[in-house]
Amino acid sequence: MFTRCLVCSTPFEANEELEHAPHAYRLAFDPSRGRLWAICQNCRRWSLMPIEGRWEALEELEKVTVDRARLLSRTDNIALMRAGPLEIVRVGPAKLKEEAWWRYGKELAGRKRNWDKLGVAGSVAAGAVVAGGWAAGGISLLGVWIILGHGSDTLRDAARWLRFGSSAWKGQQECSNCGFNVQSVAFRDRHALGLFLSQETGEVEIVSRCARCGLYRDAGLRLTGDEADRTLRRVLAYHHFAGASEERVFQATHLIQEAGSPQDFTRIVLRDGKRLGDVQRTGGIALEIAANEAAEQALLELEVAELEARWRREEELAAIIDGELTPLPLLEQMRRRIAPG
Ligand SMILES: [Zn+2]
Ligand SMILES: [Zn+2]
Repeated sequence: MFTRCLVCSTPFEANEELEHAPHAYRLAFDPSRGRLWAICQNCRRWSLMPIEGRWEALEELEKVTVDRARLLSRTDNIALMRAGPLEIVRVGPAKLKEEAWWRYGKELAGRKRNWDKLGVAGSVAAGAVVAGGWAAGGISLLGVWIILGHGSDTLRDAARWLRFGSSAWKGQQECSNCGFNVQSVAFRDRHALGLFLSQETGEVEIVSRCARCGLYRDAGLRLTGDEADRTLRRVLAYHHFAGASEERVFQATHLIQEAGSPQDFTRIVLRDGKRLGDVQRTGGIALEIAANEAAEQALLELEVAELEARWRREEELAAIIDGELTPLPLLEQMRRRIAPG
């Protein structure tokens, strides 16, 4: 096994997961052609591992991907997977079921643990405990000092304020009816936000009632496209700051699976439009998972398309290096004539 990238000589970072391929965190393999590459974290090029010792590593990798890898994204030809800290590109049709939203399950359950810890600490009046060096939820001494000055009622409120601030959206938009200049939407008004699907694009739109003329949807604030998407993810993360139990995350991801895809789920839930405050809890969690998943999936699709292009080039090279272009059958024929058997 090489320990450095063959192109730029950057050393591979050793992993502790694979006995037979311990030299890199990013690996690519093709079980049917018998190829194994280490992927450089610096130049992204693939280094073909020498044939000696490759087979054990291929067997081991195939076992890891079947037993415990998660499929992140795929094309018809390659699949991008993660197994613990390893990033694995597998060439060939993937046997795994796509379940990319498991990540958010972890994230939401983690939020719940933090939330529970913050509850134990109670009110900011008990802040001395925190100042004594206790740092749940990633609150530093500086954070505690800011909280005490901010006048939040509880540590939970304070932690949420530290993380998000108080505005769900800031910008400049004029009400098309009365010309009122809308500059922000406060998180505390989030329950009244309207979530709709754009008639033209089918994407989520966020609307907010005009503070002056009181019009809603036809005027007032309307966020569309990326801005709506970002704001939605931010508002939902705030809304679900308390996280969710694994049970609820399981139910939520099940809803998404039944709908077919994150996008389909969002379309079903918001078909007739909804106030955020009217979205029931499991549906809301599923909406947050779906919103993040759709964004993540778009990035992963770009990445996996790039990986596929990379694989095509590296496979051409590998075929040469592994000697498939030299006329082996001919050599073999000659060898047999000389030394039969
Ligand atoms: Zn390199
Ligand atoms: Zn107005």
